[in-house]
Amino acid sequence: LLKRWITKSAFRKEAAGSTQTLPKNFGPRKSGTQGLKPQKHGRELKPAPVLTPVQKPVPPPKVRRGVMKVRPPVVTVMGHVDHGKTSLLDALRETSLAAKEAGGITQHLGAFEVDMKSGASLTFLDTPGHAAFSQMRARGAAVTDIVVLVVAADDGVMPQTREAMKHAADAKVPIVVAINKCDKPESNPEKVRQQLAAEGLELEDIGGDVQVVEISATKKTGLDQLEEALLLQAEIMDLQASAEDDVHAVVVEARIDRGQGPLATAIVREGTLRPGQYIVVGAQWGRIRALRNMLGRQMPSAGPSIPVEIDGLRGVPEAGDEVVVVANEEQARALSEERFLVMEADRLRRLSRQNSALAPETTEGEEEKSEKKEMAVLVKADVQGTAQAVSQALQGLSSPQVWWSVNVVHAGVGPVSQSDVALAEACGACVVGFNVRTMAGAVDAAAKRAKIKVCQHRIIYHLLEDIGNMIVGMAPGTK
Ligand code: GDP
Repeated sequence: LLKRWITKSAFRKEAAGSTQTLPKNFGPRKSGTQGLKPQKHGRELKPAPVLTPVQKPVPPPKVRRGVMKVRPPVVTVMGHVDHGKTSLLDALRETSLAAKEAGGITQHLGAFEVDMKSGASLTFLDTPGHAAFSQMRARGAAVTDIVVLVVAADDGVMPQTREAMKHAADAKVPIVVAINKCDKPESNPEKVRQQLAAEGLELEDIGGDVQVVEISATKKTGLDQLEEALLLQAEIMDLQASAEDDVHAVVVEARIDRGQGPLATAIVREGTLRPGQYIVVGAQWGRIRALRNMLGRQMPSAGPSIPVEIDGLRGVPEAGDEVVVVANEEQARALSEERFLVMEADRLRRLSRQNSALAPETTEGEEEKSEKKEMAVLVKADVQGTAQAVSQALQGLSSPQVWWSVNVVHAGVGPVSQSDVALAEACGACVVGFNVRTMAGAVDAAAKRAKIKVCQHRIIYHLLEDIGNMIVGMAPGTK
């Protein structure tokens, strides 16, 4: 585990240090005036191949397993504040529930499904607003296939309307416009259309492919048309997935329930989730005890685009975390520990970078080194290999750009002894005992006398967390 982590962090460092040259055609394609055009293709859009004298090796395409079937689109509602995003989601959820089960008690899952009479269905993310969308995107979790842009017919295009358009364009996610509050006497859908066109949206009325539907969320009118428009958009995008492929699912919401413990809602992108599977979600792991739908009913499985609540995790993951299915508990523990280590190392680097930003700037000619603090550590472990691995993991926390570094002054085998304490005192080091027997009382007393900090751990990430906290305590500006 340690070796894997070390290799990974070494790789990360290398990657961070290397100056990457991006191909000229890298980045979002510019099309139209606002870059809002790739409507037909959505995320499936592939840039045309650029022929250069030396062709770069193309990675082999992922071999998909199982039969590809049409999957429901995952829809996010965005728009300006007070334009009716929440009301629209409420209306869609209510009509869906009424169809599913009269008087059914729903639970908030973070996503819900709407079944159409035709047998098709849609999945709506239940968190309106742009922060959730950007947060998920920032974490690389692109679950949204289509954005519903809600614009109030009595208010028109507003700053957050433009922001939503930009988010959708950046993510290359097509838009379907819902002009809301059309029940209001002062509503002016025509004006909204003109404003949107002026912003660069190619509405279908003027020959483009962005559909526009007039609705009233509170009066529940136009909802069927909106759902039809979303299905049509999904059809154009030809969204497909295989239920037999490796599981790829993304958490959209997670919470802790008093009775049931950690619960996470995930949307499956590929493959099928089933109770009994061992999963790793972010740095958390668990065994699926139960999968529940929006009505709180247990489900035997959850295939592509289906939102389900996962019961059985040991901790609460974060929105945007990916769900990985592994073979057994051992693998689940190992992978979650590995991820924890990577996250912890990232956290420490971030913290130290923040602290170094706060530290007084070095004046010209002043040695940069003088600003740098060094943390001396003496390592004792049960076996030589572990001692080396722990030393490397600790040194791996150092970084040339930040104000501290870890210096392992000695790495040995066996319990922490009197002579270790003496050496640590001489070097001003702290002592790290990993997987070793507890110290003899006399050694403990000697360490206390010499004010030597001794940390003993059996789990590497507890050790790194401990050392990390000590490093943070050394930060400029802290005592
Ligand atoms: P959000 O901030 O975009 O989520 O907007 P809300 O859904 O909270 O709606 C803001 C206000 O507009 C609330 O008072 C709603 O009752 C009202 N509202 C939303 N949709 C409609 C509609 O279709 N017609 C009318 N008349 N009022 C609406």
